[in-house]
Amino acid sequence: MMGGRTGEEIWTIAESTEHGINPISLEVIWRGLQLREKLSNARLITVVLGAGVGDDGLAMVASAGVDEVVCVEHEKLGHFLPENHAAVLVDLIERRRPAIVLAAATTYGRTLLPYAAAKLYAGLTADCTALDIDQETCNLLQIRPAIGGNILATIETPVARPQMATVRPHSSPTPDPVDRPHAVVNREVADERLLTSLVRFTGSENLPGDEVSLANADRIVAGGRGLKKPENFRLVGDLAELLGAAVGASREAVDRGWISYPHQVGLSGKTVAPELYVAVGISGTIQHLAGMQTAHSIVAINNDPDAQIFEVADLAIQGDLFTVVPLLCERLANRRGAGNE
Ligand SMILES: Cc1cc2nc3c(=O)[nH]c(=O)nc-3n(C[C@H](O)[C@H](O)[C@H](O)COP(=O)(O)OP(=O)(O)OC[C@H]3O[C@@H](n4cnc5c(N)ncnc54)[C@H](O)[C@@H]3O)c2cc1C
Repeated sequence: MMGGRTGEEIWTIAESTEHGINPISLEVIWRGLQLREKLSNARLITVVLGAGVGDDGLAMVASAGVDEVVCVEHEKLGHFLPENHAAVLVDLIERRRPAIVLAAATTYGRTLLPYAAAKLYAGLTADCTALDIDQETCNLLQIRPAIGGNILATIETPVARPQMATVRPHSSPTPDPVDRPHAVVNREVADERLLTSLVRFTGSENLPGDEVSLANADRIVAGGRGLKKPENFRLVGDLAELLGAAVGASREAVDRGWISYPHQVGLSGKTVAPELYVAVGISGTIQHLAGMQTAHSIVAINNDPDAQIFEVADLAIQGDLFTVVPLLCERLANRRGAGNE
């Protein structure tokens, strides 16, 4: 354990959704627990903003091993309107002055934290893949890929406080629940005067074809430029359907308009960690690997024996995807027909 100013607070922001607390929030708590180990007497606090947040969700957060859970509620926090959520968070930060504030690099965290950081004149590092504490200064070391993923940059915020960062989803494990959670759970009602957003929530709908949640999929079949034409992307869809998988894509496929951005995997897309990742006609550049190389099993189909994707593949199928994929589909369909899935 290192030195450090005593009694400093490390905060993680948990994301309250209509389905409960987003499990990604536990990964951020795991990061916070690692940092607490390294800062003597630091306290780990998880902040939840929302409306009607269930006791179950707060108990789940508490059992991750934090010291305190602060839940600020108001009906106007029920949907994510950035001005309202940021105003409440900024007020809380100004009252309690934490040293560090972390959130997941989800749409929520990537919108809320920059908004709050700008109001607080604080620094913020987006999409960190590692965090540490500098032994000399006790500053937060915020580590993330930079320059197209070719280097890992370490960023420090020596003066401004709090030190703020978002953490890339699926780049950390979740903590094991503790036997006897000791966290104090404090619920408070948000000050109405802070909730001045002129924006009103009227409804939300999924874009057609974007319902699949890549981030939580167990199996993903992803297609790249090797598919050559938009209509050939159906091969990826066919294989995905037979495997019960979500559809992913390289940036080349997305930039060419063959599939929409929510399907993009990689540095500037989603980070995924499925049980099975099938890469079809994807070369495996560092930026693509950054989003999928923690997949449990990687199958790559590519006609280039030197394709970089083969370096991370558990099963490398060297061949023409226009032959291999239909053959795989046929075999899988036959097995399905034989009730042998
Ligand atoms: C800042 C930055 C961020 C980026 N973010 C991302 C990101 O999030 N995600 C991402 O994917 N990329 C990202 N990129 C782009 C990345 O560098 C690559 O350009 C991209 O991943 C390449 O996509 P691809 O593999 O589909 O295409 P290519 O590199 O062109 O590869 C196509 C592959 O298909 C194979 N192929 C061709 N024909 C066949 C066939 N008939 N059968 C079998 N195989 C065949 C080829 O051998 C080749 O390996 C980023 C780049 C930068 C600079």
